[in-house]
Amino acid sequence: MKRVIVFGGGFAGLSASVYLSENNFEVTLLEASPKLGGRAYSLFNNSQNDIYDNGQHILMGCYEETIAFLKKINSINKLDIQESLSIPFVKRGGSIHRLDSGKYSYPLNLLFGFMNYKALSIKERFKVIDFFLDMLCCYSCDLKDKTVSEWLRCKKQSDNSIKAFWEILVVGALNTTIESASAEIFEEVLERIFLTGNKSTAILLSKVGLTQLYIEDAVQYITDRNAKINLSEKVLQIVMEGNVITGIITDRNAYTDFDYVVAAIPAFAFGKIKILSSQKFEFPDLRYSPIVNIHFWLKENPFKEEFYGLIDSKIHWVFNHGKHITLTTSSADILTKMNNEIIVDEFSSELEKYFPIFHREIIIDSKVVKEKRATFVPDAASNQLRKNFILSFENMFFAGDWINTGLPSTIESAVLSGKLAASNVITSLK
Ligand SMILES: Cc1cc2nc3c(=O)[nH]c(=O)nc-3n(C[C@H](O)[C@H](O)[C@H](O)COP(=O)(O)OP(=O)(O)OC[C@H]3O[C@@H](n4cnc5c(N)ncnc54)[C@H](O)[C@@H]3O)c2cc1C
Repeated sequence: MKRVIVFGGGFAGLSASVYLSENNFEVTLLEASPKLGGRAYSLFNNSQNDIYDNGQHILMGCYEETIAFLKKINSINKLDIQESLSIPFVKRGGSIHRLDSGKYSYPLNLLFGFMNYKALSIKERFKVIDFFLDMLCCYSCDLKDKTVSEWLRCKKQSDNSIKAFWEILVVGALNTTIESASAEIFEEVLERIFLTGNKSTAILLSKVGLTQLYIEDAVQYITDRNAKINLSEKVLQIVMEGNVITGIITDRNAYTDFDYVVAAIPAFAFGKIKILSSQKFEFPDLRYSPIVNIHFWLKENPFKEEFYGLIDSKIHWVFNHGKHITLTTSSADILTKMNNEIIVDEFSSELEKYFPIFHREIIIDSKVVKEKRATFVPDAASNQLRKNFILSFENMFFAGDWINTGLPSTIESAVLSGKLAASNVITSLK
C-alpha cells in the first residue's frame, strides 16, 4: 500500500483524503489546529446549548463536486435542497420580492422568474434577461481584465438593478465588490448557476452544523479505510532532493516514510513553511477579504422563511435556524475593525428596519464571528497569479480553494482541488 501525507484538514484536504483512501492509499492527515474543517466548522454556545457555524455556508445545485463528495461520505441527506431557485429579497420597510423560478420547465422558468422579480422595473427585468441572452449567444463586451462593474455598465444595467440584484449576487458569491471582482470569474459563476439546467440554480442549506454535515462523516469514511488523523500537528519544513520531497518535518515528528504528499493549505500559509531546497519557490500572493457573521438567539422566532436576501443593506443575508438566526455580511472590512457590542447594536437596528416583525428585545444572546481571511479576492490579478502557479514536483501535489480551478474561493473549488490532487497521485503511480 502506498503512503500519502496530506496536510491541511479543510474541505480540500478531506476531499483529497477521501479520494485517496478509497483508492487504497494509506493516508496520514496532518492538521495544525486542534480541529478539522479549516474555514468551515461549527462552534457550541454553552449557555444556549446550541450549535452554530463560524459562518453560514451556502451551497448551490451547480456544486457538482461537493454534492458527489457528500454523497460518497453519506451525508447528502443532511442538506435541504431547493427544487429550483427561490429567494425572498427584502426591502427596507419589510416588503418581500421573490425571485422564484416556479414550476415551468427550464429555461422558461428562469425567464418567468426574472420577469416576475418586482424589485426591478419592467425595463430593468428585460435588461437582466438581455444580459443572460448576450452570454448565451455572443458577447458584446470583452471581459478580459474587466471588472464586474465595467461589464454591468457595458450591458447598461441600471443603478437599481445593480443594487437589487447584481450586487447581492456578486458580494454573496465572490465576497468582494463589483468594482474589484473579475468579470471572467463572475462569468464562470453565472454560467454554472444559470446556464446549466434547473438544478444548478437551487440553493442547498445544511440542516445540521457544518461539523456534522461533512467533517464527522469524512473522518468516518477515511478512518474506515486505515487513514490516521493527527490534529494539532503543524508542518514546519519540507525537505527536498532534486524534484522529490524526501521529508516532512512537523512540530511533533519527522516523516520520511511516505510515497506522496498532498499540500492542502491556503497559499498564504506556505509563507510559514521552510522549504529546504536550493531552488526558490513562490506562491500566489493573493488579497483576502473578510466575512462577518452575527448570530442572535431569540426568545421567540418571528421569521417565516429559511433565509432572506436584503436589498441595499449592510446585512446581506439572514438565515433562520429556529433557535438562532445568522446575519451575514461579506466583503466586511469595516466590520472587522468594529467593536462587537457596536456591531450587535447597529445590526439589531438594521434588522428592525427591514423586518417590522422583529424587535431587539427578543434577542437573548449573541455571538459575532469575524473571519478576516475568509476568501481570497477573485479579481483580475488573482486570476493571473493562479494561472501562473505551475510548480510541479515528482511526488507532491497542491490542493486548496486557491488552486487554478477557474472557480472563486468556495467549497466547490476546495473539494475539486482535493479530488484533482488525489487523481494526480493516482495517475503518477501508473
Ligand atoms: C465565514 C465564511 C463563509 C463562507 N461562505 C461560503 C459559502 O457560502 N459558500 C462557499 O462555497 N464557500 C464559502 N466560504 C469559503 C469556504 O469556506 C472555503 O473556500 C473553503 O472552506 C476552503 O477550504 P480549504 O480546504 O481550501 O482551506 P481551509 O479551510 O483554509 O483549510 C486549510 C487547513 O490547513 C491547515 N493548515 C494551515 N497551515 C498548516 C500547516 N503548516 N500544517 C498543517 N495544517 C495547516 C489550517 O489549519 C486549515 O485547517 C466561506 C468562508 C468563510 C470563512
